[in-house]
Amino acid sequence: MRIVLIGPPGAGKGTQARVLAGRLSVPAISSGDLFRAETSRGSALGELIKRHTEAGELVPDELTTTIVTRRLHEPDAGGGFLLDGFPRTVRQAELLAQALEEDKTVLDAVIALDLPDDEIVQRLTGRRMCQACGMAVHTVFSPPRVPGRCDGCAGALVRRADDTEETVLRRLAVYAEQTVPLLRWYADRELLLPVDAKGAVPEVSDRMRAALAAVTR
Ligand code: AMP
Repeated sequence: MRIVLIGPPGAGKGTQARVLAGRLSVPAISSGDLFRAETSRGSALGELIKRHTEAGELVPDELTTTIVTRRLHEPDAGGGFLLDGFPRTVRQAELLAQALEEDKTVLDAVIALDLPDDEIVQRLTGRRMCQACGMAVHTVFSPPRVPGRCDGCAGALVRRADDTEETVLRRLAVYAEQTVPLLRWYADRELLLPVDAKGAVPEVSDRMRAALAAVTR
């Protein structure tokens, strides 16, 4: 299956993408993770990307799409994929549709996670990520067993540079301006499956699974 997962920052896209991709046996491909990998290489491209991500702004559409579609052409994504955080603008969605058309494929569904702004700010400012495996925890809602260490792989837990309150608010504004119009774009193409992202991870996963089952039966 070829699925897109959209949602405001902090709605749990990364966590849910891993769960669903595991169930569907397809790779979860996160544009944010691809950017963080490039940034950590310290390349000139990484420096350019960092200027946008650290300000809470979007990386330009053409550059983003080039990086993501290159990843989509790797062999493990040949039988399907779950895109996490891409596309984020109508322009990116158009470019993705073109790339898929060239590959003679289409998307099966677009899941849109929904969460109120106050909950997002609370979730993101307490979020810590494992530097080694990328798993997310929350200092209050899902604290790690050993402070500062990932429960899964014992890697160091760090705060993302763009999870400060000021940058989170900017990311939310960018989502409202640039990504919300994309929801209508996919709804018009009868691909959109809205899912409430409130509650515990398994509850949200179950809602996503039920929404997908209804359209893929
Ligand atoms: P994420 O890990 O999905 O929260 O993404 C982190 C940051 O990477 C975002 O705040 C953006 O600056 C950038 N980013 C991720 N995906 C995209 C995208 N599809 N288009 C533009 N910028 C993106």
